[in-house]
Parts: sequence; C-alpha cells; structure tokens
Amino acid sequence: MYLCQIIGFGPAALGLFIAADRDSSLGELLDGGLKVVDKGSPIQQWNGMDYHIEANSASIDFVSGINQNGLFSECLKSKSATTLKEAGQDRISLRISSEFLLEVARTAHSLISSNPNCDLETNRQISKIVKMKDGTYTTWDSKNQLVAQSETVTIAIGANADRPPMERDCFPDASDKLCLSCEDILRDTSRDTLQKFIENKSSILIRGGSHSAFSTADYILSIAEGKLEKDQITIVHRHRVRQWFADADQAGGVEALHSGDWPDLKNKDTGEINKFTGLRGRAKKLYEDIVSGREKKVNLVPLDATEIVSEKARNAQVIVDATGYVARQIIIEDEARNQIPLDWQGGNVLKDPQTREVMSNGRPLTGLYALGLGFADPGVDGPQVGINFFHGPCSTAIVSQILSTSS
Ligand SMILES: Cc1cc2nc3c(=O)[nH]c(=O)nc-3n(C[C@H](O)[C@H](O)[C@H](O)COP(=O)(O)OP(=O)(O)OC[C@H]3O[C@@H](n4cnc5c(N)ncnc54)[C@H](O)[C@@H]3O)c2cc1C
Repeated sequence: MYLCQIIGFGPAALGLFIAADRDSSLGELLDGGLKVVDKGSPIQQWNGMDYHIEANSASIDFVSGINQNGLFSECLKSKSATTLKEAGQDRISLRISSEFLLEVARTAHSLISSNPNCDLETNRQISKIVKMKDGTYTTWDSKNQLVAQSETVTIAIGANADRPPMERDCFPDASDKLCLSCEDILRDTSRDTLQKFIENKSSILIRGGSHSAFSTADYILSIAEGKLEKDQITIVHRHRVRQWFADADQAGGVEALHSGDWPDLKNKDTGEINKFTGLRGRAKKLYEDIVSGREKKVNLVPLDATEIVSEKARNAQVIVDATGYVARQIIIEDEARNQIPLDWQGGNVLKDPQTREVMSNGRPLTGLYALGLGFADPGVDGPQVGINFFHGPCSTAIVSQILSTSS
C-alpha cells in the first residue's frame, strides 16, 4: 500500500517534491511510499510547458520555490536557472522554463527510482479512481487493470484546450477548413502547415479573446517572416478583452469603468487587476497595437457582430480555437461502482480551499487532492493558475495533509 499515488507527472506534480524538500519532509514522503503514473512518454522526452511563446508570469517564479540548500539545489546551477534568475521579474520564453523544469523532473525521477518504496511509470493512463470502504484508493488504467492502492491520491493531470462547438449562425460549415487548437500552435507542432497557408495568403481566424488567443496571433506573426497581409488574421472575441494591470491606478480606474457581465477583477492580496485573466507582456502589447492601428495584419471583431464574423468565417481557411482550457477528466467511483461526481466552476474542478481535496456535492473527498491546470486553487478573482501557486502554497498544503495521514 502506497502513502500516495500521484496521477500525472507534469509541471504541477513537481510541486509536491519541491514543497516537501522546502519543508525538509521529502525523505519522509518518499519513505512513506509514492506511486507516480503518467500517460506520457518517458522522462527523456518530458516536455511540460514547452510552449513557443513568452511566459505570462515572472521568470523568477519558476525557480523561487526551490530550497537553495535542498535536494533540488543542483538544478539552480543549470544554465536555464541562471537565465531565469537573471531575468527576474521579466518574462522570457517558456522554452527556458521548460528546460529548467526538465532538470527538476529528472532529479525527482532519480529520487523516486532510488527509493524502494516508490515507483514511477510512464505510458500508462489512469482512467478510474475507486474510493474503497476503508477510505483507501485504488486506481485503474485504460485497460481496466489495477494499478495500485494507496491511502491518498493527488490528481495532477492538467487540462485540455477547450473546443466548444462553433456558433452555427457565424460558422455554418467548417468542413472545408483546417481546424486547430491553440495547443497545436503554441507547442509548435503546426508550423510547416501554417507557413504554407500564410504563403498562400489564406485568412486565419482565431476564436477567443484571452491570453492564449493573442499569444497565438503573436506566434503566427513571428513565424510569418513578414509575409502576412493586412487583416489576414482575425481574432473573434465573445467578451470584452481584459488586460492585466499592476494596480488600479495603472489601470486608470478600470475597476470603476467595467462592471457588469465581464467586470475587471481586483486581487485583494496583491492589488493587481485581472491577475488570472488579463493579457500581459507580448500578448497585451499586441492587443494595444491592434486597437491603436499600429498592427494592421490582425483585426479584432466581437462575436456579436454576426454579419462581419460570418463573412470572416466564410473566407477563413484556418480556424484556431483559443477558447480556454478545461480540466482533463477522470472517473471517480465508490467500491459499489457508483460514480462520484466532482464539482466544477468553468473549466476548473472545485477544491476545499484549505485541504485542497476535490469537492463532490459541496463536500471534500477525504484524501483525494488535486493541483495544477484545471485543478487550481479557488480565488476571489478566479482560479489561481501559475507555477508559483502550484509549487508554493498549494503543494505545501497537500504534502502536509498527506504526511498527517501516515502519522
Ligand atoms: C499556453 C499556456 C501558457 C502558460 N504559461 C504559463 C506561465 O507563463 N506561467 C505559469 O506559471 N503558468 C503558465 N501556464 C499554466 C500552467 O502552469 C501550465 O499549463 C502547466 O503546464 C500546468 O501543469 P500541469 O502539470 O497542471 O498540467 P500538464 O502540463 O498538462 O501535465 C499533466 C500531466 O499529466 C499527465 N496525464 C494526463 N492525464 C493523465 C491520466 N489520465 N493518467 C496519467 N497521466 C495523465 C500528462 O501526460 C502530463 O504529463 C500556461 C498554460 C498554458 C496552456
């Protein structure tokens, strides 16, 4: 029986190892017994957060969770860590952050491999978690084989790009178009295809007005090598586009200006406006350039301008969904095979704010924790999505809960 099963070994799951090391309890956690399972490729091909765009968070956030005297301290000596530390509050390419996280993943992997009570399996997908009558958990893979039993489970399986159905009045038929998600684009897997469309002067339509949508447009501009024409990219946004501001003053009283359906949100701890929802860095700069007329290759159309959107949709040869992310799903059952539904808010699974246990019908499921994209901590201004949260307070709380189970 393991102390904890960790489902998913992406950037967020690493937080559990980092937090335990920070609190000098990593030895205890590993000795208690961890089973880590990831559906992805072996560690050599680990590519968590390998997005070809600028980060939306400060570079220092990626390294600041690491204990300088702990078991991950060697990672802080890597080239990527040095670059991140030097960049400090500036935002740099997520590829550097990904390189650094790979160092952390390798170290965590070797700690797991060298402890006889622990195991890490890749290329295995968990489909079901069963809560047993005695309060322990079993997990089952996609072939319905038992994987392991444990006292607790932490879900860290991330989220998928949301692909909501196209609005019929604007997009009656997209069967002849190339339809992509922003994930395909930001992970740089569609570069050659996109370049051909750009050279053929094809119109590209991006659905969504979030950070991902503007990052997608910025990426396309960057690979186009000056070959895009005026209005070749259209961003169709459903809601008012929100920008991040360091404080209300910088936002010019934006709080007072925008209330109602899609208000600006103030973070009560930091004073930031739209901390988790607003455009930042290059994405924000692109938005400002579009509305000021400095960037003419991209145009912005609200979804309720139905006639214009319909015409743009008819002419577009490529449609990209950048409409947010939704938590990956996993079946949870009790021993009698009754499904236990999880509580959701938007694309995020709800958790108890203190224990970080997932909620079902308004109650926390004892011993079933979650973190990461799609499973972020709830906050007054939205789910707290960011590596500094996943590797910070969220992981600290989960580790201390897990360890209290064993004592
Ligand atoms: C485009 C983009 C840019 C972002 N930029 C930033 C940023 O600049 N700064 C920041 O702090 N955050 C950023 N984030 C948010 C967040 O930090 C990242 O999304 C991060 O990758 C989340 O890590 P994760 O481990 O939760 O999810 P993932 O990276 O998706 O990892 C989940 C892991 O679980 C595995 N898995 C999934 N399902 C199963 C299953 N059923 N069984 C077993 N294994 C499974 C997957 O193989 C994967 O390894 C960004 C997110 C996106 C989408």
